[in-house]
Amino acid sequence: MSVENETAKRTVTMDKVVNLCKRRGLVFPASDIYGGLGSTWDYGPAGAELKRNVKEAWWRDMVQSRNDVIGLDSAILQHPRTWEASGHLQNFTDPLVDCKSCKQRFRADQVDSIRCPECGGELTEARQFNLMFKTFIGPVEDTASAIYLRPETAQGIFSNFANVIDTQRVKLPFGIAQTGKSFRNEITPGNFIFRTREFEQMEMEFFVRPSPDEELKWFEYWVDARFQWYLKYGINPGHLRLRPHAQDELSHYSRGTTDIEYLYPFGWGELEGIARRGSFDLDQHAQYSGKDLSYFDEESKSRFRPWVIEPAAGVDRAMLAFLLDAYHEDVVEGEERIVLRLDPRLAPIKVAVFPLLRKGGQPEKAHNVREMLQRYFPVAYDQAGSIGRRYRRMDEIGTPCGITIDHQTMEDDTVTLRDRDSTEQVRLPIAGLLTNLIERIGWHR
Ligand code: ATP
Repeated sequence: MSVENETAKRTVTMDKVVNLCKRRGLVFPASDIYGGLGSTWDYGPAGAELKRNVKEAWWRDMVQSRNDVIGLDSAILQHPRTWEASGHLQNFTDPLVDCKSCKQRFRADQVDSIRCPECGGELTEARQFNLMFKTFIGPVEDTASAIYLRPETAQGIFSNFANVIDTQRVKLPFGIAQTGKSFRNEITPGNFIFRTREFEQMEMEFFVRPSPDEELKWFEYWVDARFQWYLKYGINPGHLRLRPHAQDELSHYSRGTTDIEYLYPFGWGELEGIARRGSFDLDQHAQYSGKDLSYFDEESKSRFRPWVIEPAAGVDRAMLAFLLDAYHEDVVEGEERIVLRLDPRLAPIKVAVFPLLRKGGQPEKAHNVREMLQRYFPVAYDQAGSIGRRYRRMDEIGTPCGITIDHQTMEDDTVTLRDRDSTEQVRLPIAGLLTNLIERIGWHR
């Protein structure tokens, strides 16, 4: 099937996903009881699980299953010199224009004319606006105590470079990875969780020998590996593309960047960026801190600062892409349903357990099954309403398996297992349930 056909078939819209997310406890508008706080979102019970699973998938593939990458978890608050050295104080800015009539603010690179896109009023000249959130450390609010919330997790990796090589047995090429919150005072946040001011990143700095050949080899390797990662967890290849940055849009630290873009309902947008940072960051931190941030190479008996390839992904954007791609509407036994065909590894709840009737020992039996399974993965229990409606509720958050306890279970200890996507049911002994479920939803797949 061609990419165009695949794309044309899509029925998903942002509104449908936003509504489903609210209705099923995936994502809520934040500070809702106070009328909301522009473009901030809270992850509800199902959303918290999904988000954890996205990070878990990344960590497993980027750290746990590799011999050349190790993990880190650095602080959000870093010494202010960090941001001088990294260039963020100087360069992490967006051009801002104000409308002289309605006072709205826009990113100058996102408005096409010299007129306000909202009211047609005259716009001011563009000025540079720093995107870092500023606050104070300690009780005194003066310039000496000014501090910033990190706009990227990467700098915590560079500032720990010496700690890592002094304490771990690492040899080039190797990577240091971390996930965590970052903050950017975006001028125009929006599109649900695509662009927010507080978000989570999954970043890895991969250190290589300082040579253009090594750099290119690993850059190509990581662009491909990261592209494949989204396919592995179910993104339709027709909804993904690579976009190399033009020279004039490169970040201040970058020698070359390729974005992995996803086809959101509002158009192509960045999902992840893979950048060649060279030795820019280590050079800067060495200079600003006066510390030796070089690596001693046993092979050549020489010291140098390695170059860096950085795949930098957004948890929230990845989650949005997985949700959009999983969203389907179909008809089951004459009834319309919404189903999230999420990869089982990402699904918030793996199994739902339903007693068919609220009597005859079925609820007690169902609780036992639930207890047995919930030692291994998140399980839901639901005894309210018709069995059809209970299936639908679970389909809507992408639960891959439904287990029903019925009168036959009470006689022979077998249950029915329903598959979310095909809706087919098979009868299984309870004794074989765990192995069967692990086969269907386990991380090893
Ligand atoms: P954009 O061009 O969309 O502003 P960027 O190029 O500034 O993004 P990077 O600095 O490369 O983004 O950050 C790496 C990743 O972090 C992005 O690919 C994205 O997934 C995520 N990210 C960046 N800014 C935001 C944001 N405001 N909200 C949500 N995720 C973000």
